[in-house]
Amino acid sequence: MDADVIIVGAGPAGLMLAGELGLAGVRPLVLERQPRPRETPKASGFNGQIVELLRYRGLLDRVEAASGRSVRPAPSAPFGGIQLDFSHLADPPMWVVPLPQPQLERVLGERAHELGAGIRRGHDVAGVSQDDAAVTADVRGPDGPYRVTARYLVGCDGAHSRVRHSAGIPFPGTTYPEVNRLAQASLPDSVTRLDNGGLDVPGLGRIRAGFTRTDGGVFGFGWLSSGDLLVQTTEDDPAGSDDDAPMSLTEFQDSIRRVLGADLPLGEVTRLSRYGFQARQAERYRDGRILLAGDAAHQFPATGIGINFGMLDAVNLAWKLAAVIGGWAPSGLLETYHGERHFAGARALLQTQAQVALRRGQDPAGEALRELFQELLADEQPLRRLGALIAGTSIRYPAPGPGQHALTGTFAPDLTLHTDQGATSVADLMHTARPVLLDLAGRPDLRETARDWQDRVDIHTAQTGQPPADALLIRPDAHIAWAAAAGEPAGTATPALREALSRWFGTP
Ligand SMILES: Cc1cc2nc3c(=O)[nH]c(=O)nc-3n(C[C@H](O)[C@H](O)[C@H](O)COP(=O)(O)OP(=O)(O)OC[C@H]3O[C@@H](n4cnc5c(N)ncnc54)[C@H](O)[C@@H]3O)c2cc1C
Repeated sequence: MDADVIIVGAGPAGLMLAGELGLAGVRPLVLERQPRPRETPKASGFNGQIVELLRYRGLLDRVEAASGRSVRPAPSAPFGGIQLDFSHLADPPMWVVPLPQPQLERVLGERAHELGAGIRRGHDVAGVSQDDAAVTADVRGPDGPYRVTARYLVGCDGAHSRVRHSAGIPFPGTTYPEVNRLAQASLPDSVTRLDNGGLDVPGLGRIRAGFTRTDGGVFGFGWLSSGDLLVQTTEDDPAGSDDDAPMSLTEFQDSIRRVLGADLPLGEVTRLSRYGFQARQAERYRDGRILLAGDAAHQFPATGIGINFGMLDAVNLAWKLAAVIGGWAPSGLLETYHGERHFAGARALLQTQAQVALRRGQDPAGEALRELFQELLADEQPLRRLGALIAGTSIRYPAPGPGQHALTGTFAPDLTLHTDQGATSVADLMHTARPVLLDLAGRPDLRETARDWQDRVDIHTAQTGQPPADALLIRPDAHIAWAAAAGEPAGTATPALREALSRWFGTP
């Protein structure tokens, strides 16, 4: 075997997976077909639950240093052609990281390298095959073709995943005809920025900031903190688009002319990209020794969530793969990757497909739907609910069996903890990505039960302001595997804890 795990693709999902596997003591090999790290950004930032997870890993400082700006609560978020305004909420439902994708990939790549991952760039995986013992990748490298074998292979190779195709995993869904073209540019002298953020364009007149619908499509623009303009057009093109193929300035200007019916002068153009929308989900996230994560597993027809969901796939998968490779995985553990992350992807598809219906209605009925939706979102509860759906924070992984505590399957809250050694927090305890039994109510019965697993589960006793449970069993991906209700008697709590420990962390 050349490696325990081969990861195909060094995008956010592949590099996050490589780092998480490294943290769990597994040395993966990453194969990336591009000879150099990406320079042109696809995403200009990301948001959602992964921001919390990065903090739980102690990585947010590095992310903030790379971005030169602090992570901040998202003041708003687009949703199907309308804007969700979170600015008046005391605790907004999501955080946003304004870090362009190339810089994110640099941070994740450095971390993966420090944790022992091998990353080969310029190595294109042409196909994969598997048998009972191993999986093999056929690779075209700079020095010619070669083969590598490993116990598992994860396709993090994006929307057109060759791994998915090679493994014969169907990718059903819909490709929408919308093509979005995006440019970042400085403001030319001939165009005036108005006090309200709008533009005064010679020969065209005034355009307000935000989105303007025309017979040709949708034109939108906003201002970046650098003072540059971010300009976007959306048009229907039944021929579709290739997100990875470069876009020329002429193509962008032609699109503006079709949508606005006039030219828009641009200053220095520093970014040009194009993306289409698909709603697709791999039928299976696992086929034997081959797994899928990130865009290879799902395509959502709305912007701003791909990185969050892809990196969360990686975090969910890494510790389970490491458990199998470490030889202590209970039976069925790896199957829960599909069960949990396919479910999460389906929830994301639900809200992004609803966005398609909202934004594509061009007739008065479509306008009425958007107006009504906007009205409903003046209320805090639906606004929060949509925010949580976008961020992926309302997902509760399916709990095994009835009678589970309401926290089971949810993301562990970052409690402030007081211990004999001083103050700490759930976030601090998750830096090492080891499972944790957190006793919050002085429960020696539960600590004693967990002691049989102490080679793989850390046991901590702490006090916190308002404990949400007597004890929490937290998985490496910061999700709660089990919780003891307040005052739950030892007679029911200890067998339930033993069962949960065996289910997730194997026999002691
Ligand atoms: C213009 C644009 C703007 C976007 N904006 C946002 C945003 O603001 N926020 C957000 O969250 N998301 C955004 N997205 C989506 C986001 O970029 C993707 O969801 C994200 O890149 C997916 O990460 P990934 O690691 O799964 O796949 P990718 O980033 O696609 O990485 C896949 C990697 O695999 C490599 N690869 C492919 N085939 C092979 C092979 N055969 N052998 C070896 N290597 C291979 C590729 O070269 C690539 O490096 C945007 C996308 C586009 C196109």
